[in-house]
Amino acid sequence: MTNRWPLLVFALVMAVIPLIPGMPPFWIVLLDNIGLAALVAMGLVLLTGVGGLTSFGQAAFCGFGAYTTAVLTVSYGFSPWVTLPLSLLVSGIAAVILGIITVRLSGHYLPLGTIAWGIGLYYLFSKLEFLGRNDGISGIPPLSIGTFRMLDPGTIYYAIWLAVLISAVLTMNLLDSRTGRAIRALRRGHIAAEAFGVQTPRAKLLVFIYAAVLAGLSGWLYAHFQRAATPTPFGAQAGIEYLFIAVVGGAGYVWGAVLGAGIVVILKEILQSYLPLIFGGQSQLETIVFGMLLVVLLQLAPTGVWPWLMSRLPFRLSRKHPDTAPTLPARERLATAPSVLLHIEKARKQFGGVIAVNDVSFDVQAREIVALIGPNGAGKSTTFNLITGVLTATGGSISVLDQNIDNAPPQEVVKLGVSRTFQHVKLVPDMTVLENVAIGAHLRGSSGAVSSMLRLDRSDEARLLAEAARQIERVGLGDQIDQLAGSLSLGQQRIVEIARALCADPVLLLLDEPAAGLRHMEKQRLAALLRQLRDGGMSVLLVEHDMGFVMDLADRVVVLDFGTKIAEGVPDAIKSNPDVIKAYLGVSA
Ligand code: ADP
Ligand code: MG
Repeated sequence: MTNRWPLLVFALVMAVIPLIPGMPPFWIVLLDNIGLAALVAMGLVLLTGVGGLTSFGQAAFCGFGAYTTAVLTVSYGFSPWVTLPLSLLVSGIAAVILGIITVRLSGHYLPLGTIAWGIGLYYLFSKLEFLGRNDGISGIPPLSIGTFRMLDPGTIYYAIWLAVLISAVLTMNLLDSRTGRAIRALRRGHIAAEAFGVQTPRAKLLVFIYAAVLAGLSGWLYAHFQRAATPTPFGAQAGIEYLFIAVVGGAGYVWGAVLGAGIVVILKEILQSYLPLIFGGQSQLETIVFGMLLVVLLQLAPTGVWPWLMSRLPFRLSRKHPDTAPTLPARERLATAPSVLLHIEKARKQFGGVIAVNDVSFDVQAREIVALIGPNGAGKSTTFNLITGVLTATGGSISVLDQNIDNAPPQEVVKLGVSRTFQHVKLVPDMTVLENVAIGAHLRGSSGAVSSMLRLDRSDEARLLAEAARQIERVGLGDQIDQLAGSLSLGQQRIVEIARALCADPVLLLLDEPAAGLRHMEKQRLAALLRQLRDGGMSVLLVEHDMGFVMDLADRVVVLDFGTKIAEGVPDAIKSNPDVIKAYLGVSA
């Protein structure tokens, strides 16, 4: 739970500002505009900064919000309070439709896609007869409560900033939850998140809709603030500006959106008012100066101004940990579990002409540590990816506890109790060790986005975090629990991945080079932990290059060379196997 007093102070200050005697109305209008922009940017914080989906088209969703209320209030006489949910709904539905198409795009195609519909929707707004074409819709009624009409900028100010504050709290609650961690894991690619059961397309669509609804809210407020809706504020240029705001403020930070909106709106205002005085009416100049100032700003604070400011605070906003929480129910272990946990039968994977895994067969028994070894490029990691559903096999079959998993996606494989670490560490570097590890327990919680936003998820959340904390203690990283994962040594990050995998309550743990980068003592501790896990009933399949470590620890060893299994047996037999020696040394024994 984060400290709430800075929020209260901020709310109080904002509430008092319009009441200050002699406050120029001009400043209030500016603050209104900042609030409206902050709402859209907050959606972008989630979508782009947190989820990694860059959108240039957010302004179009403001358009959906604004035009919905404009049409319904002006043409059909609806009350603005009735159109509020409808505006959000229309923005949300538009996001579902555009999102389903867009979030499938990857790489540069995604932002390009958003530019495309940003421009397209702008033309749609300016061409449709019932939206008033280029002239838009005017005569939109003001917001009112009873007979009190929010006509001037100083009264709608409260509606706008209340919306900003509520949205900020809901967004922060969402980010600080099971669903939030799943969203935050998206930016580092989908493979790690999916390995722990996150339905990544659904998570992406969720942030897409969330961001659109916030933009729709901003559009709804804007329509009743301006009392008119025209196409220009919802065009591609505005979309780019919103992205600017999010990036300048700090694209990963909720308050960065508010700060970024303040910086950009005020900067633009100052440039527009003063530059023509200095340079005499050269109209395009402010755009150029504006662009240059933003570049300078981003040079000074590359991740945005908010994190830059926060890192300069003389104190730190601390978090409290749940110390005692009820434990999560563990996986039901079959009393008479089949002795073969993992059965691989002639598994094959071809990448074009390369046969990475060539009809490999082996088993992992219950309570067994099996090492998969072989020179670089032998197909070890590919075998892991076949087992965990990251890759689909070209041939053969794989089963876990007698259940065939040939075409199962990663989210299904982990449900059967197979969890893993990655050769190339896949943690979210700007999440704490605790938060990263808690992703491992994703499937053991059930709270969704809405209950998280409303903080109804706290008991579920406490159990997940307590489980994560327990696994972190277990692997010996208790002192690092609150550090950002990215600040740990690579060796420690591998151990964090083991804790994350343990959070899934696995029956089979797949470890891809877990000891790489560890010091001697750390390797010994890791070996002791793995033995302890095995003796507790878990099976381990590990890839490792340190032969001393492997031969000491493994019950059985499987050797791959150029995708083909060349040997299998107890460590002593493998050590003296001439084929193995030849594969490793490149000479005949
Ligand atoms: P190991 O983990 O044993 O070092 P890998 O399983 O990573 O080996 O790779 C086995 C072979 O498959 C290598 O020749 C590698 O270049 C190739 N390979 C692995 N992944 C891919 C991929 N996604 N596309 C094409 N080739 C791949
Ligand atoms: Mg590998």
